[in-house]
Order: sequence, then C-alpha cells, then structure tokens
Amino acid sequence: MASTVSSRPIPALYTVYILRSTMRHASLYIGSTPDPPRRLKQHNGAIKGGAARTARESLRPWEIVSLVSGFPGPVAALKFEWALTNPHLSLHIPSESRLSVAHQKKRNGHPRRPPASMQSILANLHLLLRVPSFARWPLRLHIFVPEVYAAWNKWASEAAASAANTIEVVTDFRPSTSASMDGVSGADAPGPGPAWGVHALPLDYGPMRDYVDKVQDIFTFEREGDCTVCRTALLPGKGLYAVCPNTGCEAAGHLRCWSDHLLESEAASKHGCDHTPESLCDAPLVPRRGHCPTCGGPVVWADMMKELTLRLRAPSEVDKLVKAKRRQEKATAKLAAEAQKAADLAARAASPPGLDADVPSPTKTTKSAVKATRTRKRATEVTAKAAKITKTARVTKATSSALTKAEKPAKTAARSMAAGQASAVLLDQPDVPEIIIL
Ligand SMILES: [Zn+2]
Ligand SMILES: [Zn+2]
Repeated sequence: MASTVSSRPIPALYTVYILRSTMRHASLYIGSTPDPPRRLKQHNGAIKGGAARTARESLRPWEIVSLVSGFPGPVAALKFEWALTNPHLSLHIPSESRLSVAHQKKRNGHPRRPPASMQSILANLHLLLRVPSFARWPLRLHIFVPEVYAAWNKWASEAAASAANTIEVVTDFRPSTSASMDGVSGADAPGPGPAWGVHALPLDYGPMRDYVDKVQDIFTFEREGDCTVCRTALLPGKGLYAVCPNTGCEAAGHLRCWSDHLLESEAASKHGCDHTPESLCDAPLVPRRGHCPTCGGPVVWADMMKELTLRLRAPSEVDKLVKAKRRQEKATAKLAAEAQKAADLAARAASPPGLDADVPSPTKTTKSAVKATRTRKRATEVTAKAAKITKTARVTKATSSALTKAEKPAKTAARSMAAGQASAVLLDQPDVPEIIIL
C-alpha cells in the first residue's frame, strides 16, 4: 500500500523559514510550512496555532526575514529544519566543518544547543545548502531584508567564493514607497502597494499552469511521439512519461530515459554538487538538472516530477489548473472585445457631429445632439464598468497569485477602455463633471 505521503503530489511550495522578532532582533525562530503568510499570522497571534516560543506579546510582531523553498515535501523540510535548528548535532554537517559546537552539556549529558544568532544561522544555511543530501533538491534561498542579505553576502564571500554561486539566492525587499520604514510590521501585513516578501510567493501550482496544460494537451491528443532520448515510440496511455518543461517544446520520454540522460550529462560535467567528499556524490540516484535533448533548453528534474506527480496523483488539481487557464483566456478575449468596442465608441463620440454635412440643417444638428448625448451616456456606463473591472483585477491580485497572468491583460484592457472613455468625454464635452474621468 502506498503511504499517504507518497500518494500525494509534490507540494506547490514547502519552505523552512527564519522568523525574527521586530521588537528584539536577537530573538529568532526556525520553522517549516507550505504557507508562510498564514504561518506568520499564527506566530503573531492573528490566528490560532502559533508556537509557544513565539507567543510572548513583547516580542510580537514577528517577521520572516528569509526562507528556503523547493522542498519536495514536509518530511524533507522537517529534516532541513531540524538540521538548521540543531547544527551542533546534525549528521548532515561533517564534523570538521561544523560551525556551531556545543560547549555545554545538559544535565542528562546531552550537548546543549548553542545559542543561535542570525550570523550562525546564515553560516549553517551556507553549509547545509551545499551538503550532498540537500544539494540535490532544487532549494532556493529567499532573503527579504537588506541587512540579512548583506550579512549573507559577507559570509558567502568569506566562506568560499567558488561555492557561493552554486546556491540560488533571490531577494524581495520591501518597496521603498510602500510603507513607513519604522522597521515594525511590514512582513506581517501586505499593506499598501505591490506585494513583496512572503506575501508575493506563489503558494499554489499557478506558475505551472501553462506547463500542466501543455502536457494535458500532448497526452489527450496522443502526440507523445518517440521518446526524446531512446527514440522508441511512446505508447499512448501507458508507462510513466515525463515532458520537457520549456515553452513550445513537446519532447516526451520514458521516466527512466530522462533520468539516465540527465545523470549521464551530470557525470560528464564532473559531478552535480561542488563540495567535499566526492565519494558521497559519485553515484547520485536522482538527477538534478540538465538539458532537453530535443530543444536544448534547461530542465530541472524536480519541476518535471512536480508535473508528473500532479498528473498521476492529483487529477482534480490538474483539472482546476486547466479550467482556470481556459477561464482566463475567455476573460481576456472578452475584455479585449469590450475595449475595442469602447474605443470605437470613443472615436465616434470624439468626432464633431455633422462634420460631413455641407449645409447644417437644423434637423440634422438636433439628431446629432441626441446621438451625442446617447453616446455620452453609454460612455459613462462603460467607464463605470471599466472601473469595476480594474477593481476586480486588484482583488484578484490580493487573493490569488495563480491569476497573476490574467490581471495584466485585464488591467491593460480596463485602462485602455478607461482612457478611451476619458479622452472621448474630454474632447467632446468640456462641461462634463470630473467624476467621469477615472
Ligand atoms: Zn526512452
Ligand atoms: Zn525541450
């Protein structure tokens, strides 16, 4: 029987995070979660379920200053969390490179955990992210506070210049315009302005939507073709096939073939990880990354496995993603059509009535006036609609990062629509109240 863990798809996101008290920067906490914004709320007491160690009111609010993403599941994240919390004990760290050494023993004879500082946590992160057991996962370090990033860079450049660039580091600092720089809050609430830090992380499979949709298409219409590696025909509906994640490439292959191909190219370029005892990584069983034989584009094994496990173990999730994509396409098309209509309307309203008439007849002028009034009314309606659409787009951004792509065309459409209306109103009617202009 498959266990509950292995029957689930690889999670969209799983992180190990570093929490810091905004009241006392020396108070730090390490935890793991698939949903950092929600976990942060728990630590800050906004919702139930925070850890006892972070319950003291005087230390709140807490902020997440950094996190590691890319864990293939909760067990992997817990292993990393434990190693980072207990660097004096973790067997993942070779004793000669151990930075945190227990100098004191507890009453029961066990070594006492040495106090953690931001410096020691970063140093241990630097070690752990490069040890063979963790380096094979597609881990990425996120840093949300400039001073922590500066400390990381200082440590990384001192520790090993050659090793530093094997760790993927991304930063996402608070935009300088978004809020006061009082050092408090920020990380706790999204606040005004664009989302940043933990609030900008994609929590769902949204970023994989196009990839998932492409693979569904390939298998639904039986376009598997031949294995991109061994060139034998893939049988529709049979076997474990993985597909290249690069846009536009439909290279599919046997799981085993992809794996062999990637492992071989890794072996060819010496070995996949940069460090220490070579014997430990001489024969990795799981590939890390490489290139697609068909398009030559980069492929990350974990991304392909995420798609494969999603397809095999969570068809309803795949369904949701594909449907969301269809909805987005429909909405975009509709908005574009409406924007076009509004633009036409605006153009008509802008041209002075009776321009083409040689002799202005009183009837014609009245007719034109009536028509202009009607057009203005319609323009006002469309402007209001555009405002509503813009608002919806904003709500979408706040609630779902999966629809990030959808809101751009929606916003653009709404904006062009609004602009069209506004200019039409301005050109035609200088006496129109300002409210109409967005
Ligand atoms: Zn094959
Ligand atoms: Zn490819």
